[in-house]
Amino acid sequence: MTKGTRMAERYEVVVAGGGVVGLSVAYALACEGISTAVLDRREPGREASWAGAGLLPAPSDPDRRPTHPTLQLRAWSASLYPEWSARLREETGLDNGYRRTGGVDVARTEAEEHALRTTAGRWRVEGIAHERLAPADFARVEPALAPGLRAAYFLPDRSQVRNPWHLRALAAAIEGRRGRVFAGRGVEGFATRGDRVTGVATAEGPIGADFVVVAAGAWSGGLLAGLGVRAPTPPVKGQIVLLHGGRPLLRRIVEHGKHYLVPREDGRVLIGATEEDAGFDVLPTDDSYRGLLDVAFGLCPILREAEIEATWAGLRPGSLDTRPYIGPAPGFRNLIVAAGHKRAGLQLSPATAELVADLVLGRPPRIDLASFRVDREAAPPGDDVFRS
Ligand SMILES: Cc1cc2nc3c(=O)[nH]c(=O)nc-3n(C[C@H](O)[C@H](O)[C@H](O)COP(=O)(O)OP(=O)(O)OC[C@H]3O[C@@H](n4cnc5c(N)ncnc54)[C@H](O)[C@@H]3O)c2cc1C
Repeated sequence: MTKGTRMAERYEVVVAGGGVVGLSVAYALACEGISTAVLDRREPGREASWAGAGLLPAPSDPDRRPTHPTLQLRAWSASLYPEWSARLREETGLDNGYRRTGGVDVARTEAEEHALRTTAGRWRVEGIAHERLAPADFARVEPALAPGLRAAYFLPDRSQVRNPWHLRALAAAIEGRRGRVFAGRGVEGFATRGDRVTGVATAEGPIGADFVVVAAGAWSGGLLAGLGVRAPTPPVKGQIVLLHGGRPLLRRIVEHGKHYLVPREDGRVLIGATEEDAGFDVLPTDDSYRGLLDVAFGLCPILREAEIEATWAGLRPGSLDTRPYIGPAPGFRNLIVAAGHKRAGLQLSPATAELVADLVLGRPPRIDLASFRVDREAAPPGDDVFRS
């Protein structure tokens, strides 16, 4: 930690980490006219945010605001996506690939059917459009589904985004609004005075800031530990297989438990994803790749016709439970943590960004942040409302 360094370069806000969370935070701030710089130790948007599938949940009925902040975060973020996507396109000319593809959730066993029925009960309460399909209708909604599935629910509003396109559009929009996005400039430490950070240290010299936002994904915990702040962000490895069908073989997003198939309009299909505790290792493995193919071929046999184009892995940033951290770092008034979004960072990024903007601007946060505090008690197991 550097103390009392003089800093010539200065922004109102410095964001450490240029994944989808850091870039979204910087975009929300740039939209408020705040001078913001995003620093990434490598090329921004090449870690988890690039690796993710871009699956977005269906928004709930706007007239039925969920009661719990975790559900509010998900619902608000889902409703912001179409708005942000249109605005990004208008400002940059870039399409982020946001599409309302619709999705089908399927069950193969009695236990899975029971679990899906419970989930459908929650959709009903939240006002998320869904339809339990009669077996004769499975093929109407998704002709590629394997015969013999036990249950299927259609969610017409489930959507997707093309992660690399979205990240590119965010970076362009930030720069279009006079924000800065630095590649290859990592945050190495913080300058502090009492309970405030005054800036960050980088290999190219210090940068002053009124606020610093730590959005460094799975590396956030390590970065904050340097300040004595405990915010574990253990990496959760996820692998994906990308198929190319040459023509669209699948229409809808298909979900089966924690596995999913995401069709792109160009005939590609993403098969995801594993969930592994493998430290910071990002090498794809044969076992996982075969397991994902088995899942895909079992759900949609026509995918056997597709070519395997690529496999990759990324590191989801974990947290102490299933919720992200959104809020000030304990002991610091102007150091904000926006990290630990695990399986749901793409989907939760717009609302996370708007909440960070509330904190920076001194507005009451539009969602109660108690559930996302860095120093909260861990939520009980089974509280996992963020699926993807
Ligand atoms: C296989 C897979 C599938 C997924 N599918 C989905 C999905 O369908 N929907 C969904 O919502 N989510 C999905 N996720 C989760 C989602 O990708 C993550 O939650 C999200 O990308 C986290 O974003 P982030 O910005 O916090 O982290 P990252 O994208 O990891 O970004 C962190 C950035 O910080 C930078 N950094 C690290 N240390 C420093 C430092 N000291 N200084 C400066 N920069 C630093 C890194 O280089 C990186 O660019 C998936 C993840 C994986 C791996």
